[in-house]
Amino acid sequence: MSKFLLNCKKALTAYVPGEQPQDKQYVKLNTNESPFKPSKRAIRGAIKATKNLQLYPDPEVKGLIKSLARVCGVKEENLLTANGSDEVLNFIFMAFCDNGRPAVFPDISYGFYSVFAKNNNVSFKEIPLNENFEINVDDYVGINANIFIANPNAPTGLALSLADIEKIAKGNPDNIVVIDEAYVDFGGESAIPLTKKYKNLIVVQTFSKSRSMAGARLGFCVADKDVIDDLKLMKYSVNPYNVNSMTYAAAVGVLSDNEYTVKNCQKIINAREFTVNELKKLGFNVLNSKANFVFCSSEKISGQDLYLKLKEKGVLVRYFNKPRIDNFIRVTIGSIKQMKVFIEKVKSILEETK
Ligand SMILES: *Cc1c(COP(=O)(O)O)cnc(C)c1O
Repeated sequence: MSKFLLNCKKALTAYVPGEQPQDKQYVKLNTNESPFKPSKRAIRGAIKATKNLQLYPDPEVKGLIKSLARVCGVKEENLLTANGSDEVLNFIFMAFCDNGRPAVFPDISYGFYSVFAKNNNVSFKEIPLNENFEINVDDYVGINANIFIANPNAPTGLALSLADIEKIAKGNPDNIVVIDEAYVDFGGESAIPLTKKYKNLIVVQTFSKSRSMAGARLGFCVADKDVIDDLKLMKYSVNPYNVNSMTYAAAVGVLSDNEYTVKNCQKIINAREFTVNELKKLGFNVLNSKANFVFCSSEKISGQDLYLKLKEKGVLVRYFNKPRIDNFIRVTIGSIKQMKVFIEKVKSILEETK
């Protein structure tokens, strides 16, 4: 720490991304990336864009916004793109939250929400999930705060229904309700249509998971035009060129190849069902995931031991050393081949610890 760091930043605990180890080749099931390559159209687009890297990208990314409007069934004025959905979330905190307008989110959810809150000097409250790790919808009705909910939630994988989302949006007309749909394509229901009815609702999505583009960094949100204009004010006050030319072209490519995305999501869903069944046969408690990961625990081995032993055997999963969930591991659903390796390793670890 230098002597220049502001006092207000000294207490920041930064978000800890999942490991990206370079020491050996792992079966990498720890950061919810896609096991599939990007669409060929995305790759072709990105390569073509490298030929004009001497130029700034279009700050309005008009072509991309047009494609997104078509795919999402909304108007162009209802869309904003950013450098990953993380940046969209940061813009939302910057524009709409402070100590007078605090943020609330579940106690077990995406770890970045509290980091954004702290970094933007926003007071926040974490509302406990119930004993089954579910969101109690009534906890979020009529509270005087901006609401952040990942749906499906991470790391549980549990999803709320659209009726529940609507209840929350309707129950807080004077606050922003953010639905973070990073995992919606793996079996959830998108709240995008509800943004036409509720001016306080922001739906955030990403290209990092279902669209195999985590490395390109692209996220977006859908909301009422006035809300989008507020977020554009943030974007143009921080980083007008937040979507680079290669990502722009890759995204237009993958959006024109939606069958590829849909097919990959179905493969993930199939591999998830296989994984859940095998884990249950081994006596695991597995939450009902609608995402590209499963959250599970066993009475036979602690979450931390299982994580460490899997790592020794070359399989990387995510472990959170946090109260209530410290006996669980979160396992990204990869290809069926990767999931078979994972299950084999779990079996041999359970044998060894008998
Ligand atoms: C992965 C993830 C994000 C971040 O996505 P990027 O677009 O890669 O920044 C946001 N929210 C949740 C819940 C996620 O799991």
